[in-house]
Amino acid sequence: MNYISTRGTAPILPFAEAMMTGLARDGGLYVPHLVPQMTPDDIAGLEGVPYEEAAYRVMQPFVAESFSETELRDAIRRAYQGFRHAARAPLVQLGPGHFLLELFHGPTLAFKDFAMQLIGQLFQIALSREGRRITIVGATSGDTGSAAIEAFRGLPNVDVFILYPHGRVSEVQRRQMTTPDEANVHALAIDGTFDDAQARLKDLFNDHAFRDATGLAGVNSINWARVLAQVVYYFTAAVSLGAPHRAVSFTVPTGNFGDIFAGTIARQMGLPIDRLVIATNQNDILDRALTTGDYRVGRVEPSISPSMDIQVSSNFERALFYAHDGDAGAVAQLMEELKSGGFRISQGALQHLRELYDSGSVSEPETIATIARVRAATEQIVCPHTAVGIEVASRHLRPGTPMVTLATAHPAKFPDAVEQAIGLRPALPPHMGRLFDLPERVSRVENDKDALKSLILERRTA
Ligand SMILES: *Cc1c(COP(=O)(O)O)cnc(C)c1O
Repeated sequence: MNYISTRGTAPILPFAEAMMTGLARDGGLYVPHLVPQMTPDDIAGLEGVPYEEAAYRVMQPFVAESFSETELRDAIRRAYQGFRHAARAPLVQLGPGHFLLELFHGPTLAFKDFAMQLIGQLFQIALSREGRRITIVGATSGDTGSAAIEAFRGLPNVDVFILYPHGRVSEVQRRQMTTPDEANVHALAIDGTFDDAQARLKDLFNDHAFRDATGLAGVNSINWARVLAQVVYYFTAAVSLGAPHRAVSFTVPTGNFGDIFAGTIARQMGLPIDRLVIATNQNDILDRALTTGDYRVGRVEPSISPSMDIQVSSNFERALFYAHDGDAGAVAQLMEELKSGGFRISQGALQHLRELYDSGSVSEPETIATIARVRAATEQIVCPHTAVGIEVASRHLRPGTPMVTLATAHPAKFPDAVEQAIGLRPALPPHMGRLFDLPERVSRVENDKDALKSLILERRTA
């Protein structure tokens, strides 16, 4: 399987190279040149198999030339052995026809672990095979950073630098990034928003000299391997609810559009997904874009669901690529226009997007009210991102089609928001109890490419 860039002028790469590169050299994102198909029989065959087996069957065709069967199976097994639920991604029922897919049983309590733990394993295999060293630089609104650090801490041949917006992540998120004491882990607090962090990251990747000198590698949600790992749980959830014999809808709390784009791929592979519903908080660029056809960047308003406080939704570029029938020139043109604040989506592309996605946005008071309402109705405590999803999903329930809302993080990661809603602070799972006792290690850095470059060059252990 070869991977091509959404902007059409970067080298075509096999899976392992696309994974280690992250962002394509033309600034675009890698997508598979063909999407492998699963037949209804293949899908029915996933019923009752362990998560790891389903993961192998769904991902294998995408990675076959880069990893052998044994390598992929071993990587999957090691990736998910630290999860604290035997089902890995269990479904629980919330109400009639409405289910929650719990994606927070991994080591850092957010769905990011599904992809990050796996790519940690795959990077290790690829690097030791080639005797290569790399410098991972990632930008995070909170959960990607902790998941990346957890996946790469202490690995030989890798330095991991994580940029997070200073003062805009929760305390648990920050401590997960600043307390690991391995020398190859570097937490950087940037003076700016997540969008600034992501823009500086793109600056580094577009600086080809720096990129080659440091062996720069990206693990942000634009990394194709991360999207792929997330495709798996759409299959396991839908099969549990009757696919391929019955269609299922999904509502996805959305920021950078990675998780919901994985659902898009599952659908293209043949999984009968009826609706994919984009749920956003007050940072609602995607909801506005689908409603009005105008993709226009606003100001990031900090919210109680900080992992979705994003205006530039990077993976949306992949959806645009498909909405333009793979016309990389058209995508490159839109991304050029985005530099000056936004673009209008063409009628044809908009129609294509609306056939795939519904959307909705949720205010802060609605988020709080949803956490309280879910607790009262089910005794379950949900995180604020999940609450955004549940509220939007409840506006899109259709009799006869099960709705699955992705529960993207554990409520204990966001205790302040939960406390506002129900007057209780959810406890961290026991294995994380020491988080508040460990010393923190972090460097402040200006929102400036050169400052960042020199810090990385100085701190690398390579
Ligand atoms: C990252 C994250 C999201 C948003 O996911 P995207 O793939 O960026 O759209 C939602 N909720 C939580 C808890 C997250 O960590």
